[in-house]
This record gives sequence, C-alpha cells and structure tokens, in this order.
Amino acid sequence: MRQLLTLVLLVFLTACANKQPGPEKKTEPSTSVPVFDGKRAFAYLVTQTDFGPRVANTPAHEKCLTYLYSELKQFADTVWLQPFTHKGYEGTFLRFTNVIASFNPANGRTSRRIILCAHWDSRPWADQDTLAKNRAKPVPGANDGASGVAILLEIARQMKTTPPPIGVDVVFFDGEDYGRSRDLDNFLLGSRYFAKNKPAGFNPDFGILLDMVGDAQLEIPKEANSLQFAPDVVDLIWSTARGLGITTFIDAPGETVYDDHLPLNEAGIRTIDLIDFNYPDESNRYWHTVEDTPDKCSPESLEDVGSVLLHVLYHLR
Ligand code: ZN
Repeated sequence: MRQLLTLVLLVFLTACANKQPGPEKKTEPSTSVPVFDGKRAFAYLVTQTDFGPRVANTPAHEKCLTYLYSELKQFADTVWLQPFTHKGYEGTFLRFTNVIASFNPANGRTSRRIILCAHWDSRPWADQDTLAKNRAKPVPGANDGASGVAILLEIARQMKTTPPPIGVDVVFFDGEDYGRSRDLDNFLLGSRYFAKNKPAGFNPDFGILLDMVGDAQLEIPKEANSLQFAPDVVDLIWSTARGLGITTFIDAPGETVYDDHLPLNEAGIRTIDLIDFNYPDESNRYWHTVEDTPDKCSPESLEDVGSVLLHVLYHLR
C-alpha cells in the first residue's frame, strides 16, 4: 500500500509540474483479482466422482468428457478436443481425449500466455490398496485427478466473468494414470500426446500442473523437478502464497514426481507441478486405493490453491 501511495503522489506531482500539453500518460489499470469459491470448486470435484471412475472406454469416462466440454464451453473463448488412441494391456484399444480451452486467444503469439493443466482420468487399478480384493478395482480419483480439474473449472468460471490480463490455456490431460506399477511408458499418455502434437505457435511462457491438490490435510512442498526446470515459477507461487498468508505451500523441497509436467518440460514449456504426494500423510493410505474419495478432500484446500493461482494470473502482465 505504501508503494501505491508513493506512486499516486509521484503521478500527482508530475502532473502539476508538467503544465505543457502533451500526450496523456497512461497509468496501469488497477487489478481486481476475482475471489475463488472453494465450495463451488468442491462441487466440481463431486460432480466428477459422481460419474464414477473416469477410466477409458467406460460410460463414466464418456459422460465426464461431455460434462467437461460443456462446462468449458460456457466459460472459454474456444474449446477443442484432442482425441487419440493407445494400445493398452492385453491388446485393449483405448480411446483417450485431451480437453483444451483458451482464454484471450487473440493475444496470439506476441503477448504473454501461460498454460494451466491437470489430468481428468482416474487410475483403472487401486493397486496400492491394503486389501487384495480391491486392487483390481478402479480408483475413485477424488484427489488424484478430480481435485486439479475442479480448481481449474472454478478458475475458468472466474475468467469468464473477469477476463485475465494475459492469455491462458486450460488443458485437461487424459490417460495420466493408466500404467501398471513401474511401467512408466504407460503413464502420462495425454500430456505426451499433447506435447508431441501441440498447436502451431503454441509457446506459453510457463505452465502450472495441478495434481493431488484437494487433500483435507494439504501441504504442498516444492516438487524437485519443478525446482530444476522452473525455479522462478516456483518462487512466484510460493511468494504469492506467503503474501496472502496461505500456509499450505510449505517452504521445503519435495520428492521427485513423475507427472504430466515432464513431457511439457521436454517440449520446451517450463512447467511446475503443484502436488502433495503425502495423502493424507507420509503413510500414503489413500493414494491409488479405493479410499480416494471426496470425504478425504476439502473445499478449504481447493480454495487455498485456487486463490494463489488467481492472484498469480491477475498480476501477470
Ligand atoms: Zn495417480
């Protein structure tokens, strides 16, 4: 606030001193940052899990895709689908689709753009479940999938009401969590496909990936690959959180996570991953189990992350 007063005084003094007519000085428009609605975001999370696990080639997957497309159609300037196929285990022919929504597309190649992303699929196998009988069941994916998408849907809704000062692309990746344990080639399918087939001239300044950001006991450390690829973006997020008094982003290095930010970084899009892998804590009881349900998540956690992102977005120029 002190800086603002000084600036106002300076502009006033300059105006007084400059009596000769001349070109009008343009001042920066004041930034009004929309208020993120955690309850609304949580409703977006529950809507996704209500379809059932979003596993490729199932009606739940199909219904959720239709839902995501129609929601984004209401908010974004353009929405398009990027379908692709993949040969899965036992010869299965899998149909996946990335969903891409653009805000301020007219900003084109010259102005600033960023990409915000999350995966919308659920893991087909709860292979970390303590009960053997559950390990062949799909994961409900409330936190692992739906939480990131929920935050981005609420941000998309806000961007419709208050257009952001920069261009933004929201991308929902499919097929992030398909692979069997240790079969890394069968993970990150949507982000790999997107990175290989990105639209001509698509060259955002940086990217932010959200994954497992709904945990009711949310604590986000600085993911190791993110620190390596885009330390300045990590700093931007953490300093914004600090400025807002949001303590969910902890000042500690996190694990190295194999996630959708890797194909983007390899394709030259510097992208960080906001992820709390400890769900709910170091014992990891819910990750990749049938217990990954909305009751383990909270509107407050979604709101913490969403608020920080909105403040970052609306202060970029
Ligand atoms: Zn997962």
